[in-house]
Amino acid sequence: MLKVNRKKHDEFENEYAEMALKVMESKRLEGYDDIADEDWPSFVLREFYEKIVEYGLADEMGLEKLSDQVVERSLDDIRYFIKKLLLATPEQIHRAHIYLKSMKKNLNSESPDISKDTFLQSFQKTYYRAMCERKDERGVKYNVRILKSLGIRSCPYCGCEYIGGRGKKILGAELDHFVNKTDYPFFALCLYNLIPSCSACNNHKRKADDLELISPFEEKADFDSNIGIRLHSRPFVREEDGTYHESSIEVRVISDRYSEEYDRYKKNIKVFALQDIYEAFEDEAALYLDRMVRYPGTQVEEIEQILAMDGIDEWQSRVRYRHRLEQDLFLDRCAEGTEQSKKPESKMYTDLYRTYRQKN
Ligand SMILES: [Zn+2]
Repeated sequence: MLKVNRKKHDEFENEYAEMALKVMESKRLEGYDDIADEDWPSFVLREFYEKIVEYGLADEMGLEKLSDQVVERSLDDIRYFIKKLLLATPEQIHRAHIYLKSMKKNLNSESPDISKDTFLQSFQKTYYRAMCERKDERGVKYNVRILKSLGIRSCPYCGCEYIGGRGKKILGAELDHFVNKTDYPFFALCLYNLIPSCSACNNHKRKADDLELISPFEEKADFDSNIGIRLHSRPFVREEDGTYHESSIEVRVISDRYSEEYDRYKKNIKVFALQDIYEAFEDEAALYLDRMVRYPGTQVEEIEQILAMDGIDEWQSRVRYRHRLEQDLFLDRCAEGTEQSKKPESKMYTDLYRTYRQKN
Protein backbone atom coordinates (compact mmCIF):
# COMPACT_ATOMS: atom_id res chain seq x y z
CA MET A 1 0.00 0.00 0.00
CA LEU A 2 1.26 3.44 -0.90
CA LYS A 3 0.13 6.88 0.06
CA VAL A 4 -0.81 9.11 -2.84
CA ASN A 5 -0.21 12.84 -2.65
CA ARG A 6 -3.69 14.21 -3.24
CA LYS A 7 -2.44 17.80 -3.49
CA LYS A 8 -1.29 16.87 -6.97
CA HIS A 9 -4.93 17.11 -8.00
CA ASP A 10 -5.16 20.74 -6.84
CA GLU A 11 -4.80 22.25 -10.27
CA PHE A 12 -6.91 19.62 -11.98
CA GLU A 13 -9.86 19.63 -9.53
CA ASN A 14 -11.78 22.50 -11.01
CA GLU A 15 -11.50 21.35 -14.60
CA TYR A 16 -12.56 17.86 -13.57
CA ALA A 17 -15.65 19.01 -11.68
CA GLU A 18 -16.73 21.34 -14.48
CA MET A 19 -16.40 18.51 -16.97
CA ALA A 20 -18.37 16.12 -14.75
CA LEU A 21 -21.19 18.68 -14.56
CA LYS A 22 -21.08 19.04 -18.32
CA VAL A 23 -21.37 15.27 -18.72
CA MET A 24 -24.49 15.22 -16.52
CA GLU A 25 -26.04 18.14 -18.33
CA SER A 26 -25.38 16.80 -21.81
CA LYS A 27 -25.99 13.08 -21.47
CA ARG A 28 -29.55 11.93 -20.86
CA LEU A 29 -30.33 9.01 -18.60
CA GLU A 30 -32.56 6.23 -19.85
CA GLY A 31 -36.16 6.16 -18.70
CA TYR A 32 -36.74 9.92 -18.62
CA ASP A 33 -38.18 10.42 -22.09
CA ASP A 34 -40.83 12.79 -20.80
CA ILE A 35 -38.22 15.46 -20.06
CA ALA A 36 -37.61 17.82 -22.97
CA ASP A 37 -34.02 18.21 -24.17
CA GLU A 38 -33.78 21.83 -23.11
CA ASP A 39 -35.03 20.96 -19.61
CA TRP A 40 -32.54 18.15 -19.09
CA PRO A 41 -29.62 20.06 -17.48
CA SER A 42 -31.91 21.64 -14.93
CA PHE A 43 -33.76 18.38 -14.28
CA VAL A 44 -30.73 16.18 -13.73
CA LEU A 45 -28.89 18.60 -11.45
CA ARG A 46 -31.96 19.37 -9.36
CA GLU A 47 -32.83 15.68 -9.08
CA PHE A 48 -29.30 14.79 -7.96
CA TYR A 49 -29.36 17.62 -5.42
CA GLU A 50 -32.69 16.41 -4.04
CA LYS A 51 -31.33 12.89 -3.65
CA ILE A 52 -28.24 14.07 -1.80
CA VAL A 53 -30.43 15.96 0.66
CA GLU A 54 -33.07 13.21 0.88
CA TYR A 55 -30.47 10.64 1.93
CA GLY A 56 -29.07 13.00 4.55
CA LEU A 57 -25.65 13.38 2.95
CA ALA A 58 -25.52 17.18 3.01
CA ASP A 59 -25.52 17.18 6.81
CA GLU A 60 -23.25 14.18 7.13
CA MET A 61 -20.63 15.63 4.80
CA GLY A 62 -20.94 19.21 5.99
CA LEU A 63 -22.18 20.49 2.63
CA GLU A 64 -24.17 23.66 3.02
CA LYS A 65 -27.75 23.08 1.93
CA LEU A 66 -29.57 25.51 -0.33
CA SER A 67 -32.78 27.34 0.45
CA ASP A 68 -35.82 25.24 1.37
CA GLN A 69 -37.78 27.08 -1.26
CA VAL A 70 -37.34 25.26 -4.56
CA VAL A 71 -38.02 28.41 -6.58
CA GLU A 72 -35.20 30.25 -4.84
CA ARG A 73 -32.57 27.76 -5.86
CA SER A 74 -30.79 28.93 -8.96
CA LEU A 75 -29.14 26.41 -11.23
CA ASP A 76 -25.76 28.01 -10.52
CA ASP A 77 -26.24 27.46 -6.78
CA ILE A 78 -27.04 23.81 -7.40
CA ARG A 79 -24.02 23.45 -9.67
CA TYR A 80 -21.85 24.93 -6.95
CA PHE A 81 -23.28 22.50 -4.38
CA ILE A 82 -22.75 19.44 -6.59
CA LYS A 83 -19.24 20.58 -7.35
CA LYS A 84 -18.49 20.48 -3.62
CA LEU A 85 -19.69 16.88 -3.56
CA LEU A 86 -17.63 15.96 -6.63
CA LEU A 87 -14.54 17.29 -4.88
CA ALA A 88 -15.34 15.94 -1.41
CA THR A 89 -12.29 14.88 0.59
CA PRO A 90 -11.68 11.18 1.31
CA GLU A 91 -12.47 11.96 4.97
CA GLN A 92 -15.89 13.41 4.04
CA ILE A 93 -16.58 10.40 1.83
CA HIS A 94 -15.54 8.07 4.64
CA ARG A 95 -17.99 9.71 7.05
CA ALA A 96 -20.80 9.44 4.51
CA HIS A 97 -19.86 5.82 3.85
CA ILE A 98 -20.22 4.95 7.54
CA TYR A 99 -23.54 6.76 7.67
CA LEU A 100 -25.02 5.16 4.55
CA LYS A 101 -23.84 1.74 5.55
CA SER A 102 -25.55 1.92 8.92
CA MET A 103 -28.65 3.25 7.18
CA LYS A 104 -28.64 0.22 4.89
CA LYS A 105 -28.37 -2.09 7.86
CA ASN A 106 -31.37 -0.53 9.58
CA LEU A 107 -33.46 -0.34 6.45
CA ASN A 108 -37.21 -0.30 7.10
CA SER A 109 -40.24 0.17 4.86
CA GLU A 110 -40.15 3.94 5.42
CA SER A 111 -36.55 4.56 4.47
CA PRO A 112 -35.29 5.16 0.92
CA ASP A 113 -33.39 2.20 -0.58
CA ILE A 114 -30.41 3.17 -2.73
CA SER A 115 -30.12 -0.18 -4.48
CA LYS A 116 -33.67 0.25 -5.84
CA ASP A 117 -33.34 3.93 -6.64
CA THR A 118 -33.63 4.00 -10.44
CA PHE A 119 -32.26 7.53 -10.75
CA LEU A 120 -29.15 6.91 -8.67
CA GLN A 121 -28.43 3.53 -10.23
CA SER A 122 -28.81 4.89 -13.74
CA PHE A 123 -26.67 7.87 -12.67
CA GLN A 124 -23.71 5.77 -11.52
CA LYS A 125 -23.84 3.38 -14.47
CA THR A 126 -24.10 6.03 -17.16
CA TYR A 127 -22.05 8.95 -15.90
CA TYR A 128 -18.96 7.20 -14.64
CA ARG A 129 -18.46 5.51 -18.03
CA ALA A 130 -19.25 8.72 -19.88
CA MET A 131 -16.81 10.69 -17.74
CA CYS A 132 -13.95 8.25 -18.38
CA GLU A 133 -14.61 8.35 -22.12
CA ARG A 134 -14.92 12.12 -22.29
CA LYS A 135 -11.94 13.77 -23.99
CA ASP A 136 -10.28 17.09 -23.28
CA GLU A 137 -9.43 19.56 -26.05
CA ARG A 138 -6.24 17.67 -26.86
CA GLY A 139 -8.19 14.44 -27.28
CA VAL A 140 -6.98 12.83 -24.03
CA LYS A 141 -9.59 10.85 -22.14
CA TYR A 142 -10.40 11.84 -18.59
CA ASN A 143 -9.42 8.50 -17.05
CA VAL A 144 -5.93 9.14 -18.43
CA ARG A 145 -6.05 12.73 -17.17
CA ILE A 146 -6.89 11.55 -13.64
CA LEU A 147 -3.93 9.21 -13.61
CA LYS A 148 -1.53 11.72 -15.14
CA SER A 149 -2.63 14.49 -12.82
CA LEU A 150 -1.48 12.39 -9.86
CA GLY A 151 1.83 11.59 -11.49
CA ILE A 152 1.95 8.08 -10.07
CA ARG A 153 3.55 5.10 -11.78
CA SER A 154 2.86 2.27 -9.37
CA CYS A 155 -0.42 0.83 -8.19
CA PRO A 156 -1.08 2.31 -4.73
CA TYR A 157 -2.72 -0.89 -3.48
CA CYS A 158 0.02 -3.41 -4.23
CA GLY A 159 2.93 -1.06 -4.82
CA CYS A 160 4.43 -3.39 -7.39
CA GLU A 161 2.55 -3.15 -10.68
CA TYR A 162 3.37 -0.41 -13.16
CA ILE A 163 0.42 1.79 -14.06
CA GLY A 164 0.67 4.67 -16.42
CA GLY A 165 -0.17 6.08 -19.78
CA ARG A 166 1.26 5.52 -23.18
CA GLY A 167 0.30 8.21 -25.64
CA LYS A 168 -3.34 8.95 -25.15
CA LYS A 169 -4.10 5.55 -23.67
CA ILE A 170 -4.10 4.35 -20.13
CA LEU A 171 -1.74 1.45 -19.50
CA GLY A 172 -2.22 -1.29 -16.93
CA ALA A 173 -4.47 0.96 -14.89
CA GLU A 174 -8.10 1.01 -13.94
CA LEU A 175 -9.91 3.43 -11.70
CA ASP A 176 -11.06 1.81 -8.51
CA HIS A 177 -14.05 3.32 -6.74
CA PHE A 178 -12.69 3.26 -3.21
CA VAL A 179 -16.28 3.32 -1.96
CA ASN A 180 -18.07 1.13 -4.49
CA LYS A 181 -20.45 2.83 -6.85
CA THR A 182 -23.27 0.28 -6.90
CA ASP A 183 -23.96 0.50 -3.18
CA TYR A 184 -22.98 4.16 -2.95
CA PRO A 185 -23.82 5.82 -6.30
CA PHE A 186 -23.38 9.31 -4.85
CA PHE A 187 -19.62 8.94 -5.02
CA ALA A 188 -19.43 7.44 -8.52
CA LEU A 189 -17.88 10.64 -9.87
CA CYS A 190 -16.12 11.97 -6.78
CA LEU A 191 -12.53 12.70 -7.77
CA TYR A 192 -11.10 11.56 -4.44
CA ASN A 193 -13.00 8.31 -4.60
CA LEU A 194 -11.24 7.34 -7.82
CA ILE A 195 -8.00 5.48 -7.16
CA PRO A 196 -5.91 4.51 -10.15
CA SER A 197 -4.90 0.91 -9.53
CA CYS A 198 -3.77 -2.20 -11.39
CA SER A 199 -6.53 -4.43 -12.66
CA ALA A 200 -5.60 -7.27 -10.28
CA CYS A 201 -6.03 -5.02 -7.24
CA ASN A 202 -9.21 -3.48 -8.56
CA ASN A 203 -10.56 -6.97 -9.08
CA HIS A 204 -9.49 -8.08 -5.63
CA LYS A 205 -11.19 -5.21 -3.93
CA ARG A 206 -14.38 -5.37 -5.95
CA LYS A 207 -16.39 -7.21 -3.36
CA ALA A 208 -14.94 -5.61 -0.27
CA ASP A 209 -17.32 -3.02 1.12
CA ASP A 210 -15.03 -2.28 3.95
CA LEU A 211 -15.24 0.66 6.26
CA GLU A 212 -11.97 -0.33 7.81
CA LEU A 213 -9.81 0.09 4.73
CA ILE A 214 -7.66 3.21 4.56
CA SER A 215 -7.72 5.18 1.33
CA PRO A 216 -4.33 6.06 -0.22
CA PHE A 217 -5.69 9.64 -0.36
CA GLU A 218 -6.46 9.89 3.35
CA GLU A 219 -4.48 12.53 5.20
CA LYS A 220 -3.50 10.20 7.99
CA ALA A 221 -2.69 7.23 5.76
CA ASP A 222 0.92 6.24 6.38
CA PHE A 223 1.49 2.81 4.97
CA ASP A 224 5.22 3.32 4.80
CA SER A 225 5.69 3.53 8.55
CA ASN A 226 2.88 1.17 9.49
CA ILE A 227 3.23 -1.73 7.10
CA GLY A 228 6.56 -3.51 6.91
CA ILE A 229 8.10 -6.94 6.87
CA ARG A 230 9.84 -9.47 9.05
CA LEU A 231 12.57 -11.66 7.61
CA HIS A 232 12.63 -15.25 8.72
CA SER A 233 15.82 -17.25 8.71
CA ARG A 234 13.76 -20.40 8.64
CA PRO A 235 11.10 -20.00 6.01
CA PHE A 236 7.71 -20.02 7.58
CA VAL A 237 4.77 -17.74 8.03
CA ARG A 238 2.02 -18.47 10.44
CA GLU A 239 -1.46 -18.44 8.92
CA GLU A 240 -4.46 -17.13 10.83
CA ASP A 241 -5.78 -20.66 11.29
CA GLY A 242 -2.57 -21.70 13.03
CA THR A 243 -1.00 -23.61 10.12
CA TYR A 244 2.33 -22.64 8.56
CA HIS A 245 3.51 -22.22 5.00
CA GLU A 246 6.90 -21.52 3.50
CA SER A 247 8.05 -17.97 3.06
CA SER A 248 11.06 -16.06 4.25
CA ILE A 249 9.23 -12.72 4.12
CA GLU A 250 6.28 -11.93 6.31
CA VAL A 251 4.23 -8.78 5.71
CA ARG A 252 2.89 -7.25 8.89
CA VAL A 253 1.70 -4.13 10.63
CA ILE A 254 4.77 -2.76 12.33
CA SER A 255 3.12 -0.01 14.33
CA ASP A 256 1.91 -0.34 17.91
CA ARG A 257 -0.49 -3.22 18.28
CA TYR A 258 -2.81 -1.15 20.42
CA SER A 259 -2.91 1.86 18.14
CA GLU A 260 -6.24 2.98 16.79
CA GLU A 261 -5.24 2.24 13.22
CA TYR A 262 -3.74 -1.22 13.75
CA ASP A 263 -6.80 -3.13 12.54
CA ARG A 264 -7.28 -0.88 9.53
CA TYR A 265 -3.72 -1.49 8.31
CA LYS A 266 -4.16 -5.18 8.93
CA LYS A 267 -7.30 -5.15 6.83
CA ASN A 268 -5.43 -3.52 3.95
CA ILE A 269 -2.84 -6.31 4.02
CA LYS A 270 -5.58 -8.89 3.93
CA VAL A 271 -7.89 -7.41 1.30
CA PHE A 272 -5.08 -6.90 -1.20
CA ALA A 273 -3.37 -10.20 -0.31
CA LEU A 274 -0.07 -8.37 0.18
CA GLN A 275 1.57 -11.47 1.65
CA ASP A 276 1.22 -13.19 -1.73
CA ILE A 277 2.69 -10.17 -3.49
CA TYR A 278 5.78 -10.15 -1.28
CA GLU A 279 6.18 -13.88 -1.74
CA ALA A 280 6.13 -13.47 -5.51
CA PHE A 281 8.96 -11.00 -4.99
CA GLU A 282 11.10 -13.48 -3.02
CA ASP A 283 13.61 -14.29 -5.78
CA GLU A 284 14.34 -10.59 -6.34
CA ALA A 285 14.56 -10.15 -2.61
CA ALA A 286 17.13 -12.94 -2.33
CA LEU A 287 19.39 -11.23 -4.89
CA TYR A 288 19.05 -7.94 -3.09
CA LEU A 289 19.77 -9.45 0.31
CA ASP A 290 22.78 -11.18 -1.17
CA ARG A 291 24.11 -7.78 -2.22
CA MET A 292 23.71 -6.52 1.32
CA VAL A 293 25.51 -9.56 2.70
CA ARG A 294 28.40 -8.97 0.29
CA TYR A 295 28.61 -5.31 1.26
CA PRO A 296 28.09 -5.18 4.99
CA GLY A 297 28.22 -1.84 6.80
CA THR A 298 31.91 -2.26 7.64
CA GLN A 299 32.82 -2.84 4.02
CA VAL A 300 30.88 0.18 2.91
CA GLU A 301 32.91 2.14 5.42
CA GLU A 302 36.12 0.68 4.01
CA ILE A 303 35.24 1.59 0.45
CA GLU A 304 34.25 5.01 1.64
CA GLN A 305 37.64 5.46 3.26
CA ILE A 306 39.44 4.42 0.11
CA LEU A 307 37.35 6.79 -1.97
CA ALA A 308 37.77 9.54 0.58
CA MET A 309 41.54 9.28 0.60
CA ASP A 310 42.09 11.65 -2.29
CA GLY A 311 41.71 14.98 -0.63
CA ILE A 312 38.17 14.65 0.64
CA ASP A 313 38.79 15.59 4.24
CA GLU A 314 35.77 17.66 4.94
CA TRP A 315 33.25 15.82 7.02
CA GLN A 316 30.32 17.03 4.93
CA SER A 317 31.85 15.79 1.70
CA ARG A 318 32.51 12.44 3.30
CA VAL A 319 28.88 12.13 4.34
CA ARG A 320 27.82 13.01 0.82
CA TYR A 321 30.18 10.45 -0.60
CA ARG A 322 28.98 7.78 1.71
CA HIS A 323 25.41 8.54 0.84
CA ARG A 324 26.21 8.24 -2.85
CA LEU A 325 27.90 4.94 -2.28
CA GLU A 326 24.94 3.59 -0.37
CA GLN A 327 22.71 4.97 -3.09
CA ASP A 328 24.63 3.08 -5.76
CA LEU A 329 24.77 -0.12 -3.81
CA PHE A 330 21.35 -0.40 -2.18
CA LEU A 331 19.10 2.60 -2.33
CA ASP A 332 18.67 2.90 -6.08
CA ARG A 333 15.49 0.85 -5.94
CA CYS A 334 14.19 2.30 -2.67
CA ALA A 335 12.02 5.37 -2.10
CA GLU A 336 10.28 6.99 0.83
CA GLY A 337 6.75 8.29 1.49
CA THR A 338 4.76 9.46 -1.51
CA GLU A 339 7.86 9.03 -3.72
CA GLN A 340 7.13 5.31 -3.60
CA SER A 341 4.14 5.82 -5.88
CA LYS A 342 6.53 6.86 -8.65
CA LYS A 343 8.62 3.70 -8.51
CA PRO A 344 7.04 0.26 -8.77
CA GLU A 345 8.38 -2.19 -6.16
CA SER A 346 10.26 0.54 -4.30
CA LYS A 347 8.25 -0.05 -1.11
CA MET A 348 9.33 -3.69 -1.11
CA TYR A 349 12.99 -2.86 -1.59
CA THR A 350 12.74 -0.20 1.10
CA ASP A 351 11.20 -2.70 3.51
CA LEU A 352 13.98 -5.18 2.77
CA TYR A 353 16.71 -2.61 3.16
CA ARG A 354 15.39 -1.26 6.45
CA THR A 355 14.71 -4.64 7.96
CA TYR A 356 18.03 -6.14 7.00
CA ARG A 357 20.08 -3.08 8.02
CA GLN A 358 18.30 -2.90 11.36
CA LYS A 359 19.16 -6.49 12.09
CA ASN A 360 22.79 -6.31 10.92
ZN1 LIG B 1 -2.05 -3.37 -7.66
